[in-house]
Amino acid sequence: MAEIPYKIYLSESEIPSAWYNVRADMKQKPAPLLNPGTGEALKASDLYPIFCEELSNQEVDNDTKWFDIPGEILDFYKMYRPSPLVRAYCLEKELGTPAHIYYKFEGNNTSGSHKLNSAIAQAYYAKKQGLKGVTTETGAGQWGTALSMATAYFGLDCQVYMVKVSYEQKPFRREVMRTYGASVTPSPSMNTNIGRKINEEFPGTNGSLGCAISEAVEAATTQEGYRYVLGSVLNQVLLHQSVIGLETKAALDKYGIKADMIIGCAGGGSNLGGLISPFAGEMLRGEAKYDIIAVEPASCPSLTRGSYVYDFCDTGKVCPLAKMYTLGSGFMPAANHAGGLRYHGMSSIVSELYDEGLIRATSVKQTDVFDAAVKFARVEGILPAPESSHAIKVAIDEALKCKETGEAKNIVFGLTGTGYFDLVAYEKYNDKVMDDYIPTDDEIAKSLANCPKI
Ligand SMILES: *Cc1c(COP(=O)(O)O)cnc(C)c1O
Repeated sequence: MAEIPYKIYLSESEIPSAWYNVRADMKQKPAPLLNPGTGEALKASDLYPIFCEELSNQEVDNDTKWFDIPGEILDFYKMYRPSPLVRAYCLEKELGTPAHIYYKFEGNNTSGSHKLNSAIAQAYYAKKQGLKGVTTETGAGQWGTALSMATAYFGLDCQVYMVKVSYEQKPFRREVMRTYGASVTPSPSMNTNIGRKINEEFPGTNGSLGCAISEAVEAATTQEGYRYVLGSVLNQVLLHQSVIGLETKAALDKYGIKADMIIGCAGGGSNLGGLISPFAGEMLRGEAKYDIIAVEPASCPSLTRGSYVYDFCDTGKVCPLAKMYTLGSGFMPAANHAGGLRYHGMSSIVSELYDEGLIRATSVKQTDVFDAAVKFARVEGILPAPESSHAIKVAIDEALKCKETGEAKNIVFGLTGTGYFDLVAYEKYNDKVMDDYIPTDDEIAKSLANCPKI
């Protein structure tokens, strides 16, 4: 066997030509989306007014195992994929661990994260359907940035509702979106009924992701030729993100490496779901075993402290109901510095795999995450996104356990993005003024009490 290089690159022709749908191998399927008014399960056609048709079909398809990746999307993927699987030799040395650590690096594109993998797919299907444009929300701005790149490529209009506090505090990400031609509106705005209502009820509010989602959905359904797109949580997004896991598996297989542990950060569950899909598939088919760990922030612990129930996906309660591990749609996470991990719920697929015990979950505190981020940055050269650093933290912990036991485990984790737009968070850490808010049981119970009774 050849020596393992620092970076395992696949060739362009080894980019997967189909996405893998892990639902096809699940005996217990993730629960269907429900109509919030009638409580009935939604069919693909029920979703057509909100989402593009092909994406709606992908959303409800629990049976088709492989979806061919259209050539136009593959052409775009070739500009920044395959992404490298990096052997973290320098981190291993720093830790003095016998473990072998690998990370799949998705930050090598201008959006700086894995979100472009699904953004380009969603823009493609919107274009194919002959739409004029799409609407969406963005919190910290990673998804809006990825989507603006994708819509620019296909010549579509892109309207982004950006949580007001981020709009004001993160002008750089906003300007990247505008440079790619998107219009960016601080949310809550006066453009929509729900925005006007929230502004009236809560004058001077900073906005929230749940509220921006409601505004974007309203904007999509009230303008001719527009649909709504979402960058995480949905089954279709996990399907597109399976490209991460398929490439990871191909790269490991190329060198005969069998992963023991697979670790990913979990906000809405899209990078984790995409990374683990092919591996979870092997487990579901009884072909292999892996120790899979979802890592979430202690400030927003939906898997480790939430309930597995039907809940609203947005504050305005206009979206379908989803069964997921949730903290309640009214849960207001403390203003932590991992914007992409602050959603109250979790992908239905990841929720179901977790509920069945196929994967486990852990939560980590913010300052511990930044300790790990800095350690990683100083030896591996990449400034990691705070979200990604949740996975780094647990990978380091597991590698240190191997040091005690002398086990040479193969640890694979997802490095979802870079942290150049998160320097205010690094500043807080460097100035030692970062705090570790953890919600009380009482707070979580109060929020969960508002879940719909189904
Ligand atoms: C959005 C984001 C995440 C979290 O989203 P998931 O859907 O849980 O993957 C993680 N890392 C980065 C860099 C992000 O931008």
